[in-house]
Amino acid sequence: MALDSKTPKGPLKDKWTSYKNNIDLVNPANKRNIDVIVVGTGLAGGSAAATLAELGYNVKAFAYQDSPRRAHSIAAQGGINAAKNYQGDGDSSYRLFYDTVKGGDYRSRESNVHRLAEVSANIIDQCVAQGVPFARDYGGMLDNRSFGGVLVSRTFYAKGQTGQQLLLGAYSAMNRQIARGKIEMFNRHEMLDVVKVDGKARGIIARNLITGEIERHSAHAVVIATGGYGNVYFLSTNAMGSNATAAWKIHKKGAHFANPCYTQIHPTCIPRSGDYQSKLTLMSESLRNDGRIWVPKSMDDVMAIREGRKKPTDLSEEERDYYLERRYPAFGNLVPRDVASRAAKERCDAGYGVNKTGEAVYLDFKSAIARYGNEQAKLKGINNPSADKVYELGQAIVEAKYGNLFQMYNKIVDEDPYKTPMMIYPATHYTMGGVWVDYNLMTTVDGLYCIGEANFSDHGANRLGASALMQGLADGYFVLPYTIGDYLSKDIRTGKIPTDTAAFDEAEKEVTERINFFVNNKGSKSVDYFHKKLGKIMWEKVGMARNEKGLKEAMAEIKAVREDFWKEVKVPGTADEMNPELEKAGRVADFLELGELFAKDALNRNESCGGHFREESAETDGPQKGEAKRNDTDYAYVAAWEYKGEPADAVLHKEELEFNDIELKQRSYK
Ligand SMILES: Cc1cc2nc3c(=O)[nH]c(=O)nc-3n(C[C@H](O)[C@H](O)[C@H](O)COP(=O)(O)OP(=O)(O)OC[C@H]3O[C@@H](n4cnc5c(N)ncnc54)[C@H](O)[C@@H]3O)c2cc1C
Repeated sequence: MALDSKTPKGPLKDKWTSYKNNIDLVNPANKRNIDVIVVGTGLAGGSAAATLAELGYNVKAFAYQDSPRRAHSIAAQGGINAAKNYQGDGDSSYRLFYDTVKGGDYRSRESNVHRLAEVSANIIDQCVAQGVPFARDYGGMLDNRSFGGVLVSRTFYAKGQTGQQLLLGAYSAMNRQIARGKIEMFNRHEMLDVVKVDGKARGIIARNLITGEIERHSAHAVVIATGGYGNVYFLSTNAMGSNATAAWKIHKKGAHFANPCYTQIHPTCIPRSGDYQSKLTLMSESLRNDGRIWVPKSMDDVMAIREGRKKPTDLSEEERDYYLERRYPAFGNLVPRDVASRAAKERCDAGYGVNKTGEAVYLDFKSAIARYGNEQAKLKGINNPSADKVYELGQAIVEAKYGNLFQMYNKIVDEDPYKTPMMIYPATHYTMGGVWVDYNLMTTVDGLYCIGEANFSDHGANRLGASALMQGLADGYFVLPYTIGDYLSKDIRTGKIPTDTAAFDEAEKEVTERINFFVNNKGSKSVDYFHKKLGKIMWEKVGMARNEKGLKEAMAEIKAVREDFWKEVKVPGTADEMNPELEKAGRVADFLELGELFAKDALNRNESCGGHFREESAETDGPQKGEAKRNDTDYAYVAAWEYKGEPADAVLHKEELEFNDIELKQRSYK
């Protein structure tokens, strides 16, 4: 069945404006009688909750952490995009729209991306008004830097802590409403199911994570803003708690899940150190503004470095292969993430990896330190500065830009990245797939919305750096508050939604039964045992490169792990206390289903696009040899899966993508 995106008619550039001019509004007095549940208070949910409350709705907001300030969004390092053209380097809304559609390998919905580009500039104004301390240049103007896949500087940042500062802004906006009583905040609450009444989302079942109590909450609409599902790989750069439970639960209740196979493997993460690791750490893409990526040209040098006979700093310029600059002269080290990740994998697969596991390449700041140092010496009028002086001056600039990232690296790896290049390797980072939503950000269930990383998003098959924060805040501050109003305008006479009804009874029963199963199962293996097994299958067979054989094996293997999980999982403790193992069990159970659908989706999409690289679909000769080969004839659609029990039985619905304003081309960054 084809899906209706409900994209407004008319020229692309006018769609959002005319949409806003024509929707139904709710008058202020009626807003006071309408309740909205927002699950998740990261940047997407936090901004939505604050804005809806400011508009006058009664908001109930939920988060599993002890404060909205601890949402995974806090980890965002590098920045947020906006088409302000402060640098006068040719940026515009159109160019941001174009870069995003191209960066996503032509697998996103034009109308949504255009709207995103249009509202991007408002986000910066909003956040500056809230007091977000974006970096400023010498003259006091907001500064910008570049991220991958673009030729302009449009990324606003707050050192390497952009997410934290933006989240503090959203949190302050929320707090104002909490104080006014317009937001009721439920920290340490986990949504475990959505409740549908007459086909419409009318509430949720949540567990109080401190007491274990199961609670019913009703509303006229429910917004899911629960983040991405990268932890399906076990190891990722996501926060340890990031999970797919809310998204998966609504999928089981009728919300289609779109493009689960579109995952971003980020090129610059600290390499894995061993089997007992539970978390990977990102080194922000912003570092590629100044860091140059390389491996040794000769295998002898690779071996000498691995065996400790040589240091990377011993190698001359001629002995280094700056492979991104060599392969992609136009974009160099700032190619998009999917391209940079595959290029690192290619070098490491060919044996050039520089650490003991053979899974690391260098990210080197030597040139940048020298460049900045010489510039500073000139500015300070120092003639013929010594090498040490140049280094000292250059290091100060690099430290000002990326100091906290260098400190993180130093603490984790115990090496000084100012003196020796960082070692990096790709790791799972972001999920472009997610809950399918129409132009209104509504799922296939009436009154059930999904925003931020949890939805299938505007990024197509690959997200450009610094665009996730932009999308989450666009959804929350500037899009959802309009679209949900149009829907709620039909609910002004509905009155409070009661929770003592059969629909709530049934949903609560399901939730309670599952919890009771976990605490009573007394199996022999820990939750992490299964999570690690799933992650290994995902990484090896559904990771950076995928093929038919591996994907079929992955589906069968994940199913087998899932069956074992339900027999053997062991959850210590009880249901009526704080029980992190119990929380994890529920989340891993959902990952074990999502993982199989993920592999099924990857198998269905027999083309390479963005982060989804099918080995069967690569260019075999010509200038693009080895690069991804898209198939627009057969796959220019969003794959939205309908739940039918077993993940293998999910039914495919297609949203055909129309490109009226952008010509589909092979993506080239050469
Ligand atoms: C290390 C790192 C660095 C990044 N840097 C950047 C960057 O520089 N620029 C950029 O644009 N993007 C960046 N990203 C991506 C970006 O941070 C995320 O995509 C974005 O923050 C997601 O925001 P969100 O609001 O959708 O979800 P999250 O911030 O993940 O918030 C999820 C919320 O949902 C709640 N929740 C989840 N499940 C439940 C449940 N069942 N019940 C109740 N509550 C629930 C959580 O408590 C939380 O409040 C980075 C990502 C990582 C991992």
